[in-house]
Amino acid sequence: MLKGIGASPGVVIGKAFLLGGERLSIPRREIAKGEIPEELARFERALAQTTEEIIQIRKKIALEIDEEHAHILDAHLLVLEDVLLIEETMRRVEKERLNVEYVFSDVLEHLARRFEVMDDEYLRERASDVRDIGRRVLRSLLGRKRKALSNIDEEVIVVAYDLAPSDTALMHNKEKVVGFVTDVGGKTSHTAIMARALEIPAVVGLKDITSRVKRRDMLIVDGTNGIVIVNPDEETRKHYRREEVEIKVFEKKLEELKDLPAETLDGHRVELVANLEIPEEIPSLLARGSAGIGLYRTEFFYLNRAGLPTEDEHYQAYKSVAEQMSPHSVIIRTLDLGGDKFTSQLEIPREMNPFMGWRAIRFCLERPDIFKVQLRAILRASAHGNLKIMYPMISGVEELRRANLVLEEVREELREKGIPFDKDLEVGVMIETPSAAMTADILAKEVKFFSVGTNDLIQYALAVDRINEKIAYLYEPAHPAVLRLIKSVIDAGHRQGIWVGICGEMAAEPTLAIILLGMGLDEFSMSAVALPEIKKVIRSVTLKEAKKLVKQILTLSTAEEVEACTRKKLLEIVPDIVKRLGRK
Ligand code: PEP
Ligand code: MG
Repeated sequence: MLKGIGASPGVVIGKAFLLGGERLSIPRREIAKGEIPEELARFERALAQTTEEIIQIRKKIALEIDEEHAHILDAHLLVLEDVLLIEETMRRVEKERLNVEYVFSDVLEHLARRFEVMDDEYLRERASDVRDIGRRVLRSLLGRKRKALSNIDEEVIVVAYDLAPSDTALMHNKEKVVGFVTDVGGKTSHTAIMARALEIPAVVGLKDITSRVKRRDMLIVDGTNGIVIVNPDEETRKHYRREEVEIKVFEKKLEELKDLPAETLDGHRVELVANLEIPEEIPSLLARGSAGIGLYRTEFFYLNRAGLPTEDEHYQAYKSVAEQMSPHSVIIRTLDLGGDKFTSQLEIPREMNPFMGWRAIRFCLERPDIFKVQLRAILRASAHGNLKIMYPMISGVEELRRANLVLEEVREELREKGIPFDKDLEVGVMIETPSAAMTADILAKEVKFFSVGTNDLIQYALAVDRINEKIAYLYEPAHPAVLRLIKSVIDAGHRQGIWVGICGEMAAEPTLAIILLGMGLDEFSMSAVALPEIKKVIRSVTLKEAKKLVKQILTLSTAEEVEACTRKKLLEIVPDIVKRLGRK
């Protein structure tokens, strides 16, 4: 039994499918003297093909970003021209009479190791360039394509060192990928968020599961409790099959609340809405009674595709979501790439601290050409439903003003062309940085609403990387610092007469939602799977009780004390939910 971090709830039993860091197995074959010219010609063809691949990627970046970023690829091209690498390979093929893949991979490894031991950090990092490029050449020699998740054709549990959010998004065909487990990662990584969106049970941060599991091993993934069992005995399997059924029965019971309002026992109503990553989630979130979309993570639209989406593609997508959700509102978050979300078309350069780097609104303000395409599409789609806009990662009022200026330019262009849009479209900001939280009173004067992005706010406030499993124990939403920050944001918003929501994963935790309710939070937005449970909590308590609880927990010193206190309260009001909460 291996313990990791429960990333997406539910239990599933299935066979392991190891998605390796792509270990290419390199054959070793002796060749006859007469075969040497063809062997060398194969090598030259593979080099030429790889060079062409890189030139194409470089061109695309130069066109869609700029020359400076395209320049990164020049280092890769230089590897392909490396005299030592090429001549040494050719010389050894002739001398040792061995197949070229074998010789090349050996020469490549030697070269990479020479870089690795250099003093200069820049040169040391070239080792991974050398290996990257080498793999491309080897793949070309072996006639292999990278194995894609979308090509899996039997029901499996994917086992991987790590998965990018774009990989998880490809698990659409969820009849095939029924669960996944990874060595690294945290609960609020976008890979985990995507798994919840697709309702695939997942456990991350298992440290070394890739080395403990073999292909086709039987696995039980308990995403609720963060447990993976390898090759379970019959009794354990029976236990988990029962668990699977119990979860289904429990969920069915909660579904009865679907059409009832999210209202406390003393009549205080809040907005209970869903986060949306891909439009395919809409039927499932409506089935769970979502009263709108509190966060539409539009960046998934940019992942796993050849080029950037056109304005019309954006427009069609937003219009369709607006129409399907009408009359409810849909809050579109503008592009939030960077951090742990990358797309190959926008090769955002790898940075030392990507979560604190060139991401989200910072990227958009530098690239108004890309930003405007999205804003124009949102405005045009606003004529067809109830849309709102919010900007991610705002760190101060100047950024908000700059973003609004771009929005105003787009409005003006549409007005000039007589293209209709909602003139009263509301604009809000996400509160995700401590600086935004602490200046919420200033920001509140210039927006219509706040949506607190606790996934990021917690990582910045506590200085704990949200995707690093080694420090996951420090990522504490109930930390007094986090609770104080959130309370001050809600109070600042209310003083200015605007509503305040939370669209981070924190709103989906029953033990925390009750605290947020007591703090006066107006809107709770979350993965659709969590909606019924949170509605049940809200409908089982009075606002007065929740406020009293907040008063009490604000006097406590640690997250542990806070959790214990609120768990106790929950046990009184919703014992069946507490029973189902993940074992800590
Ligand atoms: C957040 O940071 O809480 C949030 C909702 O945005 P994301 O998880 O996409 O960074
Ligand atoms: Mg965020």
